[in-house]
Amino acid sequence: MNNYFIITFFILGSVFGSFFNVVGLRVPMQNFLTSNRSYCPSCKRQLSWYELIPILSYAFQRGKCKGCKQHISIIYPFIELFTAFLFALSYSLVGFEIELIMALSLTSLVAIIMVTDLKYMVIPNKILLFFLPIFILIRFFSPLQPWWSSIVGALIGFFLIFFIILFSKGGMGAGDMKLFAILGVVLGYQGILLTFFIAVLLGSISSAILLLLKQVDRKTAIPFGPYICIAACITYFWGYDIINWYVTSFF
Ligand SMILES: [Zn+2]
Repeated sequence: MNNYFIITFFILGSVFGSFFNVVGLRVPMQNFLTSNRSYCPSCKRQLSWYELIPILSYAFQRGKCKGCKQHISIIYPFIELFTAFLFALSYSLVGFEIELIMALSLTSLVAIIMVTDLKYMVIPNKILLFFLPIFILIRFFSPLQPWWSSIVGALIGFFLIFFIILFSKGGMGAGDMKLFAILGVVLGYQGILLTFFIAVLLGSISSAILLLLKQVDRKTAIPFGPYICIAACITYFWGYDIINWYVTSFF
C-alpha cells in the first residue's frame, strides 16, 4: 500500500466529485451538453479557474459566491470530499485489481445520485442506464462468489422495493426500485439485503433527529436515495466484516 497513490486517488476523487456535481445538477435539467462552462446558479456569472478548485475554493470563499455573495450549497464541497474519500478508500482497500474499477464506478454512481436526489428528488434513468452495462461488464470479469449472486441480488433489490411501493403510500419511488436493482448487481443478494437494512436504519435515525430538531414535520418528503447510496458504500467496503461480526456475536 503506497501513500503516494492514496493521496493521488484522493485528489483525483475531488476532481471527479466536482464533475459529478455538474453532472448531477445538469442531467435532470437536460442541459448537460448545452452549457459547458460552470456558472453561479444565482447570478449566472461564469466561474474562473480559481473558483473551480475542488474543496479549497469553497473553503477560501467561505461558502459564498464572489459575485453575488449568495451562499453556495454545502452539497458541492460535501460531494467533492465524499468522492475524494471513497476514491482513496477504494484504492487502499482494493488495490490495483479489476475490482478497483467497480469500486470507483460505484462511488461515481452514488455521488451523482446524491446530487440529483438532494437537489431535485429524482434518480434519473439516464444515469442508471449509463452505469448498468458498466457494472454488468465488470461483474463478468470480477464476479461475486457465487457468480449468480449478482443476478439474484438485482432481482431481490427490484422486488423488495416493488412490494414496498405496492403496500405503502409514498416514501419510496420507481427510481429507488431501479437503483436497488442495479446495486444488486454490484453487491449480490446478501449485500443488497444488508444495504436495505442499513438504509432503513439510517433513514429512520435521521428522520427522528430531524423531527426532534423540528427541521421537518411528518408530512415533509425526505429523499431516500442518499441513504441508499451511503448504505451501499458501507456494504460494499465493510459488508463482509459487518456480516461476520454479526454472525460471530449472536450465533
Ligand atoms: Zn453568484
